[in-house]
Amino acid sequence: MARFGRDRRSARKAEVGQTPPEPTSRDEGSEPNLHVEPDGADQPARAKPSRHYDRRAKLLERTLLTSTGTVRLTFEVVDGRPFVFLPGYFVSVESEIPGVGFRHSPYCILSRPGQAPVFELIVRLVGGGERSAYLGSLEVGDLLAFRGPGGHSMLPRASGLDLVLLATGVGIGPLCSLVGELLEGGFDRPIRLFWGLRLAEDICLIDELEAFASVYPSFSYRISLSAPPPGWNGVRGRLTEIVPALLGTLGASEYRLVGNGAMTEEMATALGDMGVGKEVIYREAYFNGRHRPDKAVLAAIRSRFVASDLLAPSALDAADLFHLDRPLGRTRRPSAPKED
Ligand SMILES: Cc1cc2nc3c(=O)[nH]c(=O)nc-3n(C[C@H](O)[C@H](O)[C@H](O)COP(=O)(O)OP(=O)(O)OC[C@H]3O[C@@H](n4cnc5c(N)ncnc54)[C@H](O)[C@@H]3O)c2cc1C
Repeated sequence: MARFGRDRRSARKAEVGQTPPEPTSRDEGSEPNLHVEPDGADQPARAKPSRHYDRRAKLLERTLLTSTGTVRLTFEVVDGRPFVFLPGYFVSVESEIPGVGFRHSPYCILSRPGQAPVFELIVRLVGGGERSAYLGSLEVGDLLAFRGPGGHSMLPRASGLDLVLLATGVGIGPLCSLVGELLEGGFDRPIRLFWGLRLAEDICLIDELEAFASVYPSFSYRISLSAPPPGWNGVRGRLTEIVPALLGTLGASEYRLVGNGAMTEEMATALGDMGVGKEVIYREAYFNGRHRPDKAVLAAIRSRFVASDLLAPSALDAADLFHLDRPLGRTRRPSAPKED
């Protein structure tokens, strides 16, 4: 397990000694100028390129993965500086938008650390999206200006726990990196990946996922379509609708949730309500990061869970649990003054 215990600190150690130091985390404030917005709703464009985006990579290959607009971009770092990362890390890209200026956005790394200085991104070309359109417009041989890699490792924190991975759309990227790294490094706990897409035309990366599943019986994956075509025999529905009923236990796993902020926030909150500790849930919202789950939606998600190995705080009345004569938190009414 030593291999999987490699955490942010050790990744940072690997970066120490490089000049200049690389950003490590958007939350830790070590690199205040690493422009990362949780949902892409972001800072205004800059008239000039930022001096912080001083790293360079050359585009080696661009592959259209789906007819619905998903591309895989293969870059090679050409600035001569080390490119050290863990699964879950991202690069922050500077895009030059004609007539607008320079904008910045993070993209998680799809490839595995051992492939550096080559790295891959999987990018969804979203309608009206300027920064994804910029990446999609790059030609082989073009140079990318970026910062990083930085971010949080998605490697398991505890030994002996299974992994449950949930991705929507291109949130699959860092989870592919994670799965490859763990399986080929000897991780022996079950890894279950649930991937939510809208259309059958959105499905991609099947060769990679099949290769993992055929070589490593401990890995399984399921794709669920929220708008399946007629005759679709696979799983259908949003992840929040189908995954709770597929998890026989909750307490023996760590969770990684990546993609649409509605899914990551709703699932993380529901898991917490079911008694799963925050320390084993990691989430990364690519967009919709400020989504606040609706109470009724959460109640519906909770009702779909079948696992009963944890105490679900939301479902318990503490008074029943501890045989109290009144609910916890309710203060006893002051008793009436005694009359003589
Ligand atoms: C930590 C982190 C890692 C990220 N990694 C990736 C990655 O690996 N690949 C990737 O493609 N994006 C990734 N993103 C999102 C990325 O940074 C941009 O926000 C995204 O490319 C959209 O930027 P835009 O300017 O093209 O569109 P915007 O103008 O920001 O958005 C246009 C519209 O599209 C919606 N939208 C944005 N992204 C998506 C999506 N993926 N699917 C459906 N609708 C969407 C927005 O909510 C908005 O309504 C990541 C974001 C974060 C915070």
